Amino acid sequence: MKGSLQQYLKQKIDNMSWRATDASPNRLERVMAWGGASGSVSHVYRPSTVAELRRIFETARANNLTVGFRGSGNSYGDAALNHENILINFQRMNRILEWNPETGVIRVEPGVTLKQLWEYVLGDGWWPPVVTGTMRITMGGGAAMNVHGKNAWKLGPIGDHIIEFDLLLPSGQILTCSRQENEELFHAAIGGFGMLGSFTALTLQMRRVYSGLLHVDAVASRNLGDMMSYFERHLDDSDYLVGWIDSFARGRSLGRGELHRAVYLAPGEDLEPQHTLQLAEQKIPETIMGVFPKLWLPFFMRPFYNDAGWRLVCWAKFMAARLKDGYDGISYRQPHAHFHFLLDAIPFKRAYGPGGIIQYQVFIPVQRTHETLTRLLEMGHEHGTPNYLSVLKRHRSDPFLMTHGLDGYSLAMDFHINEGNRARIRQLAREMDEVVLDAGGRFYFAKDSTLRPDVVRRYLGQETIQRFCALKAQTDPEGIIETNLWRRLFA
Ligand SMILES: Cc1cc2nc3c(=O)[nH]c(=O)nc-3n(C[C@H](O)[C@H](O)[C@H](O)COP(=O)(O)OP(=O)(O)OC[C@H]3O[C@@H](n4cnc5c(N)ncnc54)[C@H](O)[C@@H]3O)c2cc1C
Repeated sequence: MKGSLQQYLKQKIDNMSWRATDASPNRLERVMAWGGASGSVSHVYRPSTVAELRRIFETARANNLTVGFRGSGNSYGDAALNHENILINFQRMNRILEWNPETGVIRVEPGVTLKQLWEYVLGDGWWPPVVTGTMRITMGGGAAMNVHGKNAWKLGPIGDHIIEFDLLLPSGQILTCSRQENEELFHAAIGGFGMLGSFTALTLQMRRVYSGLLHVDAVASRNLGDMMSYFERHLDDSDYLVGWIDSFARGRSLGRGELHRAVYLAPGEDLEPQHTLQLAEQKIPETIMGVFPKLWLPFFMRPFYNDAGWRLVCWAKFMAARLKDGYDGISYRQPHAHFHFLLDAIPFKRAYGPGGIIQYQVFIPVQRTHETLTRLLEMGHEHGTPNYLSVLKRHRSDPFLMTHGLDGYSLAMDFHINEGNRARIRQLAREMDEVVLDAGGRFYFAKDSTLRPDVVRRYLGQETIQRFCALKAQTDPEGIIETNLWRRLFA
């Protein structure tokens, strides 16, 4: 399917040239969603200044085109795509503007990546308060989705650590937004999936660290109940918590898996902080157990990317956790980057196969989590469409208008798409939507590929959507800013 999707997009480019007056035909590019299950053709611009950005809006207006934004394109679905229209890629607006190593306050352009950010501040004894499972995201893309990390129940999403930002409107006006100034827009543009304007600068508060290492516990857990009770027991004495679930396990083992818990080292615990805070100490290993290159992993894993093969992989991973960690757990020290971004060293996408993947991430209130996640995992089995990677995190609620956060848990599930299961997975997602809505749950646009407008209305509420649309009518009265996701869910 990927071959034919790519061919279809190439044909589109040939047929679209006629529309590309001032929007210059040589800017036409195929742009894929991170999951590889959808893609678009767009006029792609890569501005490096605000002045260029303003000119792109003028070009869009003159050519009757809409404008969508893209950071590093790490959203799994169509949030950073704008088919047959303009797509602004922010990767060239990637300068660190100000840094105060005394206070940990940093001001950056929106295309600065999380990798740039942590590498810049670590040597001074700081670390970003919220980091995602990949360090490739940009700060603009992270703010637009209000991303969370493995400490979401404790420090909330990235928006809770943004002090201020500049938002460029399609009119060319720049509004500075903070908790004191343009406060409503501040809480709506963070998590507003780029629909209210473009971030051109963001000011963030970093978090003090006294070592380049974390204290980590790894522990096997027998089932979902076991895993959740570990989370609840350790909410107060942990800085990070994350669970991997073997989604093939059933019955009394349903939800079994492996947990990782991490705690910052207190001042004095690391005897050589000047050494462990060096970038060289954070370098992610390129081999497994010092021997097997991670680059080769997708090639060797490819034969296992089917239900029977992946069941075996999950079983082996769980058994390894049971042997290595045991139910009582083991402890070790690990560099921050290893703990957070180990997967970045593995080119997983090469192993996905031609259909790509869809991630379905749900957020469930704590009182309803156990029964709801149990049901969702069972539904995957009943439909014959188990997911290949399930990750559990704990969250808290936050003050952002279009938030996905709540006091509860999220489960992110990766479904591998092929011609045989595409329709079944879409049907499964529809049925799971109802279970999530019934539990008072929420969804996340950064991961979404399957939601429909009525589901979004039901979980966000009509009033919230009206407030958001009223703000959009103020900041973008001509409706220039759009993405595929916006048209799918709100247009
Ligand atoms: C392997 C992997 C692991 C991940 N782990 C996590 C995780 O742990 N937690 C989590 O929350 N998410 C996670 N994500 C999702 C990812 O963090 C979000 O999709 C994030 O928004 C991607 O940032 P990006 O720079 O790639 O933005 P893109 O995906 O390119 O864009 C995201 C949104 O931001 C908008 N946007 C981009 N730049 C701007 C700008 N300058 N101004 C206004 N709007 C803009 C776009 O229009 C789009 O709506 C993960 C994704 C991957 C691929």
